Amino acid sequence: MSSDPFARAATDSLRTHTFASLNPGPRLLVLGGVHGDETCGTAGIERLLAELDGGAFQLLRGQLTLVPVANPLARRRLQREGERNLNRLFKPGAEPADYEGKVTNVLCPLIERHDVLLDLHSFQSEGEAFAMIGPRDNSGSLEPFARASEEGLLALHLGTPIVVEGWLDIYAAGLARRASGAEVGAGALDFGRGTNEYIRNCGGYGVTLECGQHQDPQAPEVAWRAIRRALALLGMAALPQGLVAEPPKPPQLLRLASVTDRLHEEDSFVRDWATFDPVQRGEPIGMRHDGTLVSAPDDGFIVFPNALALPGAEWFYFAHPSERVLGPAATAPASAA
Ligand SMILES: [Zn+2]
Repeated sequence: MSSDPFARAATDSLRTHTFASLNPGPRLLVLGGVHGDETCGTAGIERLLAELDGGAFQLLRGQLTLVPVANPLARRRLQREGERNLNRLFKPGAEPADYEGKVTNVLCPLIERHDVLLDLHSFQSEGEAFAMIGPRDNSGSLEPFARASEEGLLALHLGTPIVVEGWLDIYAAGLARRASGAEVGAGALDFGRGTNEYIRNCGGYGVTLECGQHQDPQAPEVAWRAIRRALALLGMAALPQGLVAEPPKPPQLLRLASVTDRLHEEDSFVRDWATFDPVQRGEPIGMRHDGTLVSAPDDGFIVFPNALALPGAEWFYFAHPSERVLGPAATAPASAA
């Protein structure tokens, strides 16, 4: 997309916009372009910026910060990454080893000054928009959390047909299996931590919104609606005409249950899988290079299939329907956590 004005923007600084209401209230941060080939968040944020600058709506309370392009180098290249995935290893470092490390060092203090994060993404395969939320309330060591109810409510209001819960625990379990008994170092676990994990660690909460396929012309609209719905939910702005606060049909909630690695470069899927393709227990998903079938462990769904995963890396995730209730009743038992 050579028409993208941000493809030519400076890569040595981040453009951020903060609107501070004179009335105190929640502090919402919206990120676009954490991955450079995901332009819908940028477009949704720019539309909102134009609305605010043009007086189309008012910030009623709190503080809103918008970062249209969180990874300018990746955007310049229109690639997912500049030098590496910005949404990994997301914590401040005294001596950043690469471009994304330097960006992380600018974004972390910004995130720390906010209560709520909405991180806008898109994805490669075909499929509908979905939101990703974190763990249930827990006091464990991996990702302690106490704001699952608020986070779930935000995801509920973003209006996607599917919400996926759980990431870091399944990622950690995958690491542990790869280490086969050896201790998994904190550094390896940190690799699984992104922007949302960072704000949760700072006492806030965050939702990743996958707005649709990278080129889906509806994705910028999904991004913009999500920002307006988040502002309304937080009491920071009125909803625009024609947008309902809560989708008429609650989203289907899935819980990531396991990750399966590709082990050999001749391991192959039995068909082209798309995220959220349903599978039945025992249904063949892929074949190992020696002919062994990899089958669905249960009735559930394929998530993030990657036919080109490097041997030793995640091949696909498997998810179950979740019994969790999003919203005010979300303090239900965290039995499976
Ligand atoms: Zn992304």
